[in-house]
Amino acid sequence: MGNILQKVSWFIKEEWKIYLSMFFLLLLISLVSLAPAKALGLAIDTIVSGELTRRSLTILVLILIALPLSRYILSFIYNYLVNKEGQKLAFTLRKKYLSHLFSMDSSFYERYQKGDLIARVTNDLDSITTAATSLLEGIIFNVGVIVFAIVIMSFTISWKLTLISVTIMPIALTVLNIIRNQKRKYIKIHREVYADMTEKVLESVEGQKVIRAYGQEDNDLLKQFDAIDKDINSWRYIVRYENWFNPLFEVVYGISYILAFGFGIFFIINQEMTLGGLITFVSYIGLLYNPIISISTIFSQINNANISVDRFDEIMKEVPIVHNETDSKNIIQFDTIDFRNVTFKYPFDKFPVIKNINVTIKNGQTIGIVGPTGAGKSTLIRQLLREFNVTDGQIFIDNISIEEYVIEDIRNLVGYVPQAHMIFKRGVDENILIGNPKANIEELDKAVKLADFEKDLSFLQFGMHTMVGESGSTLSGGQKQRLSIARALIKNPEILILDDSLSAVDAKTEDTIIEHLKAYRQGKTNIIVAHRFSAVRDADLIMVLEGGTISQMGTHNELIRSDGWYKKQYIQQMTMK
Ligand code: ADP
Repeated sequence: MGNILQKVSWFIKEEWKIYLSMFFLLLLISLVSLAPAKALGLAIDTIVSGELTRRSLTILVLILIALPLSRYILSFIYNYLVNKEGQKLAFTLRKKYLSHLFSMDSSFYERYQKGDLIARVTNDLDSITTAATSLLEGIIFNVGVIVFAIVIMSFTISWKLTLISVTIMPIALTVLNIIRNQKRKYIKIHREVYADMTEKVLESVEGQKVIRAYGQEDNDLLKQFDAIDKDINSWRYIVRYENWFNPLFEVVYGISYILAFGFGIFFIINQEMTLGGLITFVSYIGLLYNPIISISTIFSQINNANISVDRFDEIMKEVPIVHNETDSKNIIQFDTIDFRNVTFKYPFDKFPVIKNINVTIKNGQTIGIVGPTGAGKSTLIRQLLREFNVTDGQIFIDNISIEEYVIEDIRNLVGYVPQAHMIFKRGVDENILIGNPKANIEELDKAVKLADFEKDLSFLQFGMHTMVGESGSTLSGGQKQRLSIARALIKNPEILILDDSLSAVDAKTEDTIIEHLKAYRQGKTNIIVAHRFSAVRDADLIMVLEGGTISQMGTHNELIRSDGWYKKQYIQQMTMK
């Protein structure tokens, strides 16, 4: 119980007034639930002794009507409060989790699967809030009923009969709960299997187009079924322990009834007890069943929730490797960026992808990066986004290490158009405005023109306001690229990075965009990764990256004059034209 209590104690402290009211409401409800049995016993004794009068009968009837009514009203108020608090707790935890996720860096996202992260915020979080709310209700209400019932049974009916018939229950319950707790490890496995299943469904839904194009629906479905089967199987182990529990407890309960009846009749014969007393007593044993089962179910829920708490905490304890320090410096402009002996290895890779990179980029320059696929071009330029820390060497901006600047400031300097476009299921305009949500309509129009996206608007049903399908599914490859370029341009960034962002546009459109950039981005820095040399021909400096290192560097004219990859490729591209 400790885990879950620790997890929500801050919430209970914050909401203590409501929790205190709920506590008293629960005690009242448990008392009210026990009163009818007592009233019934008294009535039977009154009838048996022949003392029943019209007045006592009226009072009795009134009590029997008032009790369930007041229980209904109290329960109504309690349920309202507990649901409200449960929702509030779920919202708060969800917000905390998501804020935390968004503060994580790329190496975190390399380590965790999407499906797993989703399972933690849905399945695990539900289990935590259910346990946190049922914990209060279940424990206080049920313990209230059990304690009050035992007190009434012992002090107003017979302590001896209570001792004989009730003691067996907690002993049996403890043993059964120990058996039941064996399922903990299976719950952990089940949570992991569930996360895996979520990941598979997510991947298939995202990849539907490709799956259909290759006629892989049946194969994919089989994989889904396999994941579902694994999920069902992992659940089966847990259910096995539950199935043992309830029937065994029924047996213990039956024994308790037999003891109460047997010894009760004996005590009546010995005149130690009245008939009404025995009826009340047996009713109370009946009333004890649900609370006892509920308490042990709550312990089992808490057990499940503790696993969820662990899974939730595992994420909450993660600290981003790339993070701001208290003395991180602000930056809004720069003069030079120096890569000094920069080497970088992805967290799960054995070998570095880029090695000993040395280059200086001056403000206002246009830099071209070319080289074979997989040479490390994207990896190199993405170092400017502070996704990871470099493995070796250092990047300096105006002679201060990039790691000493506020991360958000560095990212604000950059307008990045990635290779894989992220288009959101929103309007075209909203997608572009992600680059600069404060931009006005003129700025939006300008960005669209510069990215040569204007001509596409007439083909879209509602022009700029057309809703784009999920992941840009309703746009062509070239349209997606130009929309992404417009998104970066609307930011008017100090550094524009085009990561192979012109690959899906025709040569004429590429020329138009490059001409626009030259005219519009005077005095700003552009870094262009491209396969077609036409996109980088006029760059101030072109880097050739091969196998993670810079093999050649210079202007277009210099590079075509010296032997190497650039010249070879250039001749090939020229002859293909
Ligand atoms: P380029 O842009 O020149 O095509 P990349 O920088 O995209 O090359 O990739 C360089 C190498 O780094 C490739 O071998 C690729 O498999 C690897 N790589 C890219 N991204 C990751 C990643 N997130 N984790 C591990 N390896 C990666």
